Amino acid sequence: MSERRPSPGQSRPPPAQAAVTAPVQAAYQRYAQQTGKWIKGYAARGGTVHCGAGCFLCCDMPIRVSLAEALLTASALNPEELRRMAAHARTVQENARSAPDEETFVERHRQQVSFCPLLDRQTGACTQYDARPTRCRDTFSAFPARYCGAGYWESLTRREKAEYRREVARTPGTDGELHFIAPLEHLSEPVWTAASRSMRQAWGFEVWGDFWTLTTLAADAPFMEHIQAGKARAALKRAATLGLAHPVTLEIG
Ligand code: SF4
Ligand code: SF4
Repeated sequence: MSERRPSPGQSRPPPAQAAVTAPVQAAYQRYAQQTGKWIKGYAARGGTVHCGAGCFLCCDMPIRVSLAEALLTASALNPEELRRMAAHARTVQENARSAPDEETFVERHRQQVSFCPLLDRQTGACTQYDARPTRCRDTFSAFPARYCGAGYWESLTRREKAEYRREVARTPGTDGELHFIAPLEHLSEPVWTAASRSMRQAWGFEVWGDFWTLTTLAADAPFMEHIQAGKARAALKRAATLGLAHPVTLEIG
């Protein structure tokens, strides 16, 4: 049965968003500089960062963003890319509606919602590298990429899981539980703070949620007009009209 809903992603947001996006862009730049420095030091101490060009197994993970970041991504996309983001956002909504808990939501996101539409599956490259959100910038692995793949952990035997835990515990840069590099994640905290502060100053509230949902909403002119006018309830209503207002994927407040 087809749903008769207006289509998002067909119009561009009003341009006056610099007050919200400029602080995030500046924080991205500072983060890139600090990351480069940290990785150099890590390598000098014998550490290895396994992320690199063409490595993409983490691109099927759910991603939380601010609307400030989503505006930056949306403004870089062409109409076809926006359409693919909107289609992906709808699949995310279905998962949010049907998953009984957070663990199932994440598992189904990786297995069924699957890879981000901005990923080039031929080359493994992010087609919007400069406009990717914070989570895509601050996820680094101290272990080879196969450890990041969906289902890899579940495929390990008990013995292999015990060995993984021991290996993580003795690898510098991890939090002792997972193979991701914790200090590089912590270094991105100023980006979240910049987004939070700039949204509150500009609109009087913050908007957070799923990457594909928020990018789709960022490209929807009526939604952004309500946001810019500080009308949170009207924005939520518009998102509901578009079928994009599930509380797991959109928080306004
Ligand atoms: S986090 Fe894992 S899958 Fe993602 S780029 Fe790094 S090594 Fe590759
Ligand atoms: S935006 Fe780029 S890096 Fe982030 S999930 Fe999508 S393809 Fe991967």
